[in-house]
Parts: sequence; structure tokens; C-alpha cells
Amino acid sequence: MKVSIITLFPDMFQGPFDMSMLKKAQDKGLLEINLVDLREFGLGPRKQVDDTPYGGGDGMVLRPEPVVDAVEHAKKTYGDGEVVLLCPTGDRFKQSVALELSQKQHIVLVCGHYEGFDERIREFVDRQISIGDYVLTGGELPAMVVVDAAVRLIPGVLGGERSALDESFSDGETLEHPHYTRPEEFRGMKVPDVLLSGHHGEIAKWREDKSSNKPKD
Ligand code: SAM
Repeated sequence: MKVSIITLFPDMFQGPFDMSMLKKAQDKGLLEINLVDLREFGLGPRKQVDDTPYGGGDGMVLRPEPVVDAVEHAKKTYGDGEVVLLCPTGDRFKQSVALELSQKQHIVLVCGHYEGFDERIREFVDRQISIGDYVLTGGELPAMVVVDAAVRLIPGVLGGERSALDESFSDGETLEHPHYTRPEEFRGMKVPDVLLSGHHGEIAKWREDKSSNKPKD
């Protein structure tokens, strides 16, 4: 899977993408990350990417030309792909969307900043995703969330192929059962007997009983 990220702050991705599962996925050749610096598509000698809003008001708005040029560049260079705009007004990100994205050859994530995007940019994207009902400074953290959630669902990225299927939300709403490890007793709290019994049928039943449905919001 290829992921192109259009951002004004490519350096923010160093660290999160250089360790753990995301690093392993890249090392195994299952993931290719392409950071596309939006500033390079800026206009004029100062490489301007934003401007004041028509109608007045606070803050700056990302202009359409640099963003759309960067999207077209990413598609031309790394292949056609699903273009995702990260914005608080988008559809709420969830596990089923992560699974869908994990099956794509190439996704292009567009990170906003300032007051957001010129409205006409939305005509050039395939979907709009929000990671929750709150406002962050930029789309970089949402892009990391989306990439992490999708990449761990690519077959071969996680060690045990079953683990992603058994997790919370894998069927849309069920939350995973509790986990215990050593010691058998910690500060007076004991591991449930059934987990020490070695009885696989009973353990499976206990785990199923302890899984719960997430309340709707
Ligand atoms: N003025 C916008 C509004 O009220 O909806 C908020 C803009 S926000 C300060 C700047 C950028 O951060 C957005 O364009 C988007 O790319 C990103 N962003 C902020 N919160 C987000 C969220 N909950 N989900 C996805 N992206 C978000």
C-alpha cells in the first residue's frame, strides 16, 4: 500500500512513522510513505499557500491551486489513488473505514491548516474524514491516526493474522474482552480462575461473555 501525505509540516511524521508497526510495515515492503511538501506547490517567490477569506473574518484559508497541484502531483508520481481530505466536517473515522482504506493500492491524505480549505478543494477529493468532534491545529495528527489504523489491518503487518479480526470494533461495535498476564495475583486482585484452567472451550465462552457492545452516541 502506498500512502502520500500532503502537508505543510512533513517533519512532524518523523518519529511516529519510524518505529513500531509502521516502521515494520515499511521494512517488510508492505507500506510506502511519500511525504509531499505543500509549500513546494506554493505561489510566487514566497511560495504562498494561503490567503485571507473572502467576506472577511479571522485566520487564513488554504488556496485551491497549491493543494490541487499537490494532489495531482501525488497521483501522477505514485499512481492513481483515493484522495482523502482530513477535516472536522468530514465523516467520522471508524474501524470499517480503516479496513476499506487498508485495501487500497494508494491513498492520498490532504492535511489542512489555519482556518481550513477553500471550499472548491472538496471537488477534487473522494472522501472527507474527521477523526472526532473536536478541532486540532492541523491535519497531520489525523493523518497519523488514519494511517496507523489502516496499516495494521494490511495482511502481514501484525504478527498474528487473527489479532486484528478479534479486536474491538472489528464487527462494527463489539468491544474486546479483558486481558490478564502474570502475576496471578496483583495487590489482592486475582486472575479469573477460568483463564488458568487450560480449558479452551470455557475460556472462549468467558471471553465471549465479557465482550460487550459499545453504547451508541
Ligand atoms: N475552521 C475549521 C472548522 O472549524 O471546521 C477548522 C480548521 S483546523 C484549525 C485546521 C485543519 O486541521 C483542518 O483543515 C483539518 O485538516 C485538520 N483538522 C482539525 N480537526 C480535525 C478533525 N477532528 N478531524 C480531521 N481533521 C482535522
